[in-house]
Amino acid sequence: WFITLEGGDGAGKTTQAERLEQWLGEHGRHVVRTREPGGTELGQKIREIVLHERGHITPRAEALLYAADRAHHVETVVRPALARGSVVLQDRYIDSSVAYQGVGRGLGAEQIRGVSDWAAEGQTPDLTVLLDLDVTVGRARVAAARGDVFDRLESEAETFHETVRRAFLAMADAEPTRFLVVDAAEPADVVQERIRAAVSGLLGI
Ligand code: C5P
Ligand code: MG
Repeated sequence: WFITLEGGDGAGKTTQAERLEQWLGEHGRHVVRTREPGGTELGQKIREIVLHERGHITPRAEALLYAADRAHHVETVVRPALARGSVVLQDRYIDSSVAYQGVGRGLGAEQIRGVSDWAAEGQTPDLTVLLDLDVTVGRARVAAARGDVFDRLESEAETFHETVRRAFLAMADAEPTRFLVVDAAEPADVVQERIRAAVSGLLGI
């Protein structure tokens, strides 16, 4: 099973994935928890560039860096894990590229989905959890957790992140079967309960 977590910065994707991993482990499932960008050694180098490059990166170049990270990650980590029968829990995937590069950067949702599907050889999640959160609240959480140190993307204007948020919600509307939208302003325990309810239905736990 391939489960992805999506949403803006500060929505709690990492925390929720950690808790879900633990719960799945308790139910005897082998879990591979991973992320994009940065789920492989090569991906770590690409992540360093997309998050911390001091110079300008053109939007198309940025989109292709994410696609390169994804191509390598899907082929070397995700697919082998799925083939072994593991549950793959992944922090960000194609929907992030569509929201940030396709809509946020204005490259076109269809184009970015096309490039991403090519990079991933069509590997689609069985379930995508969208942790939806007010942009200002998300920023405040990131600032509190990291003492106001933002990476390149997090430093984008609030309107950019608003656009991204709306893009994620539109995707969830368009694919209600794949998506579970959770209000990430709820306490972490409540968010986790909602996720577990959906996952237990999917996996038969
Ligand atoms: O969630 P994570 O910390 O891995 O995301 C790294 C940064 O990259 C975040 O600031 C996120 O907004 C940004 N990002 C992006 N486009 C993507 C994926 C992540 O701008 N396709
Ligand atoms: Mg982050």
